[in-house]
Amino acid sequence: MKLKPCPCCRGQAIFADMVVGKSSRRVRMWQVSCSGCGLSTDLDEKKTYAAQRWNLRQEYANLKMWVTLLAALLPASIIISLLLGNLMGISLIS
Ligand SMILES: [Zn+2]
Repeated sequence: MKLKPCPCCRGQAIFADMVVGKSSRRVRMWQVSCSGCGLSTDLDEKKTYAAQRWNLRQEYANLKMWVTLLAALLPASIIISLLLGNLMGISLIS
């Protein structure tokens, strides 16, 4: 599975694995972390899940960017529509 670049710094994402648990039950866990800023996913037993989580997080980051952008543009669009409404009102009177 291909890893997308880091949502924070556009750095290269890499797989990291570690063995957790006691000797009786050792589990190899995977996570994806950024080589640039150190952002990482939660540990997961499946390598593909870790990769999916990483790639999904980037989609969330993109979504968040759009929501922020729309929230910033919304007051401006309200002011513009109010101004247009006023102009139309004036033109109706005269
Ligand atoms: Zn990063």
